[in-house]
Amino acid sequence: MLNEIFSGKCPACSGAAAINAALCDDCLSLLHPFNHFCGKCGFPLSRPGISCYRCKGKLSKRITNIYALYHYDKVVRSMILQMKFHYNIRLKYTLKHLINLPNFLTKYDGIVTVPSHFLRHFVRFYHPADILAEYTAYKLNVPVLHNLKRVRYTKFQSHISRLARKENVKKAFYCKKFKDNVKNILLVDDILTTGATINECVNELYKAGARRIDVLVFAK
Ligand SMILES: [Zn+2]
Ligand SMILES: [Zn+2]
Repeated sequence: MLNEIFSGKCPACSGAAAINAALCDDCLSLLHPFNHFCGKCGFPLSRPGISCYRCKGKLSKRITNIYALYHYDKVVRSMILQMKFHYNIRLKYTLKHLINLPNFLTKYDGIVTVPSHFLRHFVRFYHPADILAEYTAYKLNVPVLHNLKRVRYTKFQSHISRLARKENVKKAFYCKKFKDNVKNILLVDDILTTGATINECVNELYKAGARRIDVLVFAK
């Protein structure tokens, strides 16, 4: 474990050296933050002027704004998979280093993470969404709230089709009622794919009393 922290090997590709840096130069050059965003909801667009996935109704109408930091490509994929399934302590540092919060985040009453199933805590050493949530909470000076729970074991979303994903996450979450003064919530997850998990969580947050819900993901 100590070797891994100090060896200076890049935590994404385990190849070239990355001493005192989050990633090696090659991996850093392959990271793509988004440059274009929907003017209505903040959703990242691959090119300017194309129609927005969120505004086309593919994601819950209850999401006000939705932000993603990076394109989900090779380097991000490798980092997230390693965090979920291997013990790579350096990635925790790396991930924090790569978080560049959009300056349009507003004042929230609380930050909520999409929860990983409790059984998975045995095999998943870090939940990347928790790291993003903790860091964002610290930066915005907003508490992390633990109202949202996973109540049903679900298959890993990455292994199943789009339609099956929707079924898979149905009733998988439950959100405890928020206090009366808690209305503005930022929901955080690591990756956005079809949005099935996010939509399900947003519905639960709404039922629990949240009235403005923004979403922040590390990659999409
Ligand atoms: Zn690398
Ligand atoms: Zn939009």
